[in-house]
Amino acid sequence: MKILIAGGSIAGLSSALTLSCVGHDVHVYERSEVPLRGRGGGVVVLRHMLRFLEQHGHYTQQMISVPTNVRRRVDIHGATVNEEREKLPFSSWDTVYRSLCAMLPRAQISYGCEVTGFTEHAAGIDVHFDSGKSLTADMLVAADGGGSRTRATLFPEHASRFAGYIAWRGIVDEAAFSPLEVETLVDNLTIFRETGHMFMAFLIPGLDGSLEPGRRRFNWLWYRNEPNMADLHRHLTDNLGRPHHSSISAGLLSGESFVELCELANTFLPPVLAQLIQKTPEPFFQSIYDALSPTFAVGRVALVGDAACTVRPHTGSGTSKAADDAVSLAEAFSSDFDPCVVSTLEQWAARRRDEVDRLLKKGPELAAFFGLGNGNS
Ligand SMILES: Cc1cc2nc3c(=O)[nH]c(=O)nc-3n(C[C@H](O)[C@H](O)[C@H](O)COP(=O)(O)OP(=O)(O)OC[C@H]3O[C@@H](n4cnc5c(N)ncnc54)[C@H](O)[C@@H]3O)c2cc1C
Repeated sequence: MKILIAGGSIAGLSSALTLSCVGHDVHVYERSEVPLRGRGGGVVVLRHMLRFLEQHGHYTQQMISVPTNVRRRVDIHGATVNEEREKLPFSSWDTVYRSLCAMLPRAQISYGCEVTGFTEHAAGIDVHFDSGKSLTADMLVAADGGGSRTRATLFPEHASRFAGYIAWRGIVDEAAFSPLEVETLVDNLTIFRETGHMFMAFLIPGLDGSLEPGRRRFNWLWYRNEPNMADLHRHLTDNLGRPHHSSISAGLLSGESFVELCELANTFLPPVLAQLIQKTPEPFFQSIYDALSPTFAVGRVALVGDAACTVRPHTGSGTSKAADDAVSLAEAFSSDFDPCVVSTLEQWAARRRDEVDRLLKKGPELAAFFGLGNGNS
């Protein structure tokens, strides 16, 4: 089949790789002019994806991870409240993204190409671009993210919904601290929580993928209830005064928000955790939204990654869900698939919706348990 993909981030690149592995002619169209810059964060290791790629002869050593050995909860003084042994391997968004880019031939990605719409007909689907050109394919994979234009076109009444809390986030080099300052953090997933907020920190690989002590980075996230919409919009206005829908990327946070973040950290966090925030050069901000497409396929269009549904970030699975979507889509269209694209997609969509259901429920359940979200401010 000829398959076009709208969006060249994790879901788009993963789908391009897996669908190419099973023999399809795939091309990715990404609206950004240049390869993406990492959203930073820690990412759980993409087990299904790695297994699938290895089965198809791809070397995946680059998706390396830093294991944490203990889940450790601390009090406001930084003293241990409880510890559980738990090995959690964390990779990073940029490590995974770079690794996917390296595996996909460069000729299969076009940057600076925005998909503006599509028209279906009996023989296929015409995909339209901002340049004015159109291309015909057998299938369109919408990997255009949480604010998916494709989802909005198919389901205009299904807008995303603010979940009542936000996340301050950041990445800071381990080398910014003396070993003594961070000795209680390096081997652990460290958690601090009180009603209405929760902080987590753990190590991820260095920007060059390094796992060597001193060359890794701390990833931290601080979830806080935000009942005040005016404050929310203020933090969603960047350092050039531009409003954003749901997140402010690293480097764009306003000076006012940064100062407020540091003050909040000094007031509400143990010093050992507040120091991570104070030394983070470019913290970023995310308001937590839920988006769910009523079905993951319509006609010849498949929705994957955040375009299909967003999962709450504290499930740690946005990226792995996107990769699993890609694997399952390729499995549905491997060697002996039903040549009727529409009915194969319909069956895939129903199956995939069932598979992600547990994850979709787990996010709000965890949030309620942590006292986060609507009704918990
Ligand atoms: C601020 C932030 C931090 C996050 N941190 C983490 C984390 O730490 N760990 C984790 O597991 N997950 C994290 N996630 C979620 C994770 O990034 C996504 O769940 C995962 O990468 C899947 O994303 P995606 O590829 O579906 O969408 P996105 O990464 O949003 O990518 C969509 C892509 O489509 C492109 N695009 C959009 N519209 C069009 C169009 N019309 N035509 C062409 N291209 C288009 C965009 O430019 C973009 O590159 C984070 C998300 C955000 C917003």
